[in-house]
Amino acid sequence: MIARPGRLVLLGHPVSHSLSPRFQNAALAAAGIPLRYEAVDVAPGSLDDVLRQLAVERAAGNVTVPHKERVAATCARLTPLARRVGAVNTFWHDDGALVGDNTDVGGFDHAVRALLGREPRDLTVALLGAGGSAAAVLAAAAGWPGARVLVVNRSAERAETLCARFSSVARPSDADAAVAAADLVVNATTVGLHDDAFPVDPARLPEGAAVFDLAYRPTETAWVRAARDRGHLAVDGLPMLVEQGALAFERWFGVPADRGVMWRAATDAITEATAG
Ligand code: NDP
Repeated sequence: MIARPGRLVLLGHPVSHSLSPRFQNAALAAAGIPLRYEAVDVAPGSLDDVLRQLAVERAAGNVTVPHKERVAATCARLTPLARRVGAVNTFWHDDGALVGDNTDVGGFDHAVRALLGREPRDLTVALLGAGGSAAAVLAAAAGWPGARVLVVNRSAERAETLCARFSSVARPSDADAAVAAADLVVNATTVGLHDDAFPVDPARLPEGAAVFDLAYRPTETAWVRAARDRGHLAVDGLPMLVEQGALAFERWFGVPADRGVMWRAATDAITEATAG
């Protein structure tokens, strides 16, 4: 059991849009833990200085874009999962040492099981994207019996490099072939994050394919809504976000996170944002 953190932060750039403070503070209040979770905007050039200060403060927290890989490189210790993904989204200090973990993997895995309503088995996955979150998707899929993942990316070289790291499950593909073969289509690009662009035309989704968009927006993403309108099981990134946060909370405090409280806080924050 690690000592209780002296401070709890989210490091990113930008971070003001993040829902994490809302649902983490709700979970802290529900557990009676007298700490506040704060979003800290850290420009890339200041990250090393900020990490030194956080060590003094015995801080724990989360990491988001664009710092996940840099924090992984700075940690004194990584969990096997964080090492596998090459990125840290959750950290703490243990006896002065910076320890990094990756709960995006567990968050994604949990949300896929909830979407499908069963264990992911013998799935062909079309994975769109080859960045940090795509690596977390591949780390989860590597644990699914019989999975194969066809990776599609704008920059083909990046897809090839990522597939080489996960060669037991992944291989590069073109978009048409990957989507046509898929039981599950996962968007891990930033397409549709800020507008209503589709990463894949919903008309091209095979019958029965499920859709998982890592992006989330106040009224879900346009792609998720369009896929559901066509009869597909579809979910955006919110359940993954809340689960990765719950798993992080459990790493920091060693007690169960109240997922119901976290989910309500996240959806309340979204409702308020939608109301303007
Ligand atoms: P990265 O910056 O690491 O990767 C971005 C990916 O998007 C790359 O594959 C990039 O392709 C691709 N891309 C960007 N613009 C375009 C475009 N115009 N057309 C096609 N492809 C494009 O980001 P992350 O992996 O960290 O995040 C990806 C998404 O996942 C974001 O929307 C993020 O919000 C979401 N996310 C959600 C989480 C959750 O809990 N729900 C957790 C983590 C991430 P290329 O390599 O060619 O540049």
